[in-house]
Amino acid sequence: MTRTEFLQVCGALGLSGPLRNIGTSLSNQHSPNYQGNIIIIGAGAAGLTAGYMLKQRGISFKILEANTSYGGRMKVLDDFVDYPIGLGAEWIASGTLLFDQIANRRGVSAQIDTVGYTQDDKYGVWYNGKLVRNDLGTLTYRRFVNSSWFDFFEKFIIPEIAQDIRYESVVQSIDYTGNKSVVKTVISEFVADQVIVTVPLKMLKDERIRFNPPLPKKKLKAIDDAVVWDGFKAFIEFKEKFYPAFVDFVINPETDGQVSYYDASFGQNSKKNVLGLFAVGEPAKKYGALHPDDVKDYLLAELDEIFPNQATPNYLQHVVQNWSTEPYVEGAYISDYTDERVVRTLQASVDNKVYFAGDCYTSGRDWGNVHNAVASAQASVKEIVG
Ligand SMILES: Cc1cc2nc3c(=O)[nH]c(=O)nc-3n(C[C@H](O)[C@H](O)[C@H](O)COP(=O)(O)OP(=O)(O)OC[C@H]3O[C@@H](n4cnc5c(N)ncnc54)[C@H](O)[C@@H]3O)c2cc1C
Repeated sequence: MTRTEFLQVCGALGLSGPLRNIGTSLSNQHSPNYQGNIIIIGAGAAGLTAGYMLKQRGISFKILEANTSYGGRMKVLDDFVDYPIGLGAEWIASGTLLFDQIANRRGVSAQIDTVGYTQDDKYGVWYNGKLVRNDLGTLTYRRFVNSSWFDFFEKFIIPEIAQDIRYESVVQSIDYTGNKSVVKTVISEFVADQVIVTVPLKMLKDERIRFNPPLPKKKLKAIDDAVVWDGFKAFIEFKEKFYPAFVDFVINPETDGQVSYYDASFGQNSKKNVLGLFAVGEPAKKYGALHPDDVKDYLLAELDEIFPNQATPNYLQHVVQNWSTEPYVEGAYISDYTDERVVRTLQASVDNKVYFAGDCYTSGRDWGNVHNAVASAQASVKEIVG
């Protein structure tokens, strides 16, 4: 599915997937019929959602996370300006009812302040050396106000499951030959009835986790076929705001990826002027290949061309996030143009023992966002425990 619904404006933001509800809310019920224990690999949106659901159902589980903290691609930077900068996931592409659906606490609303765009917000396209300006039109995506996806999970999900997460636990192998599966890190071994794998697809492409027996051929082909886009973001603080809400670059062919500059301070309770750069796919390679000392000059030169002589004189500071070199991620997400059957095959469970959840292992309706990582975790837990 190419998700053409969003290609006009939303696609240019790198925000993929039609708006959907993520499925029915689960009530806080125990699942007496399920007596096993579950190992979840990865503490991003999917792993945390799966763990939280299991906690609510009274089922024994552990989350093994390679990194020293949770969040995965919801990583934020808290000390750049006076609001959190979303280095990965930044927009809400699913409607705000999702917060209550994830938190799933009767009578408690997971209130998070968000802001939407209006038709009058300004939008530009940089094409053939010219900035063509227009109004933004209809854009249903929302931004967090002085908050983030990371903050949502930190506030509503982590307190319930913090003690069940083991950090610096890089899973190296899953042996599912017996009745129980054996999950190994460098120093530990865990035995589980079911394993939920939520690592980014690049980790499976690079065979960072050995499966015994090997995954089915169809699954291996899907892992091989799916293209993981490179990902690069930068944030530049300026003295003055001289840019519209978004500026898109025309990418040819469009299947190669997306590049946008955007007002990262949009809707924030802040006087700071921060411009974001979002690049995925081929264009991200160009930025990612720059020497760190050269990034600032490159971006300022690019911006000075679009906004003559406004970027350099207004520059205050910048920060970059190269997702393609981020340990245990090594990319942005699978291409928006992936065949939906490939995505479904990536999600399919193996032998009722190994399950796959996360933004690249979905039902195939959409992928590459927090909301579908959450939905796929919910689907895996339902498949295992009912
Ligand atoms: C540049 C960029 C912009 C984005 N913008 C948005 C946006 O605006 N809105 C939106 O909704 N989504 C956005 N996304 C996508 C969103 O960030 C992801 O879809 C979502 O965070 C994925 O969650 P996940 O749990 O599937 O994977 P991850 O968050 O990647 O979590 C997987 C975890 O597995 C861990 N891991 C890896 N290997 C191992 C191992 N061997 N053993 C143990 N642990 C391991 C990793 O450390 C990581 O913590 C963006 C992503 C990028 C990169």
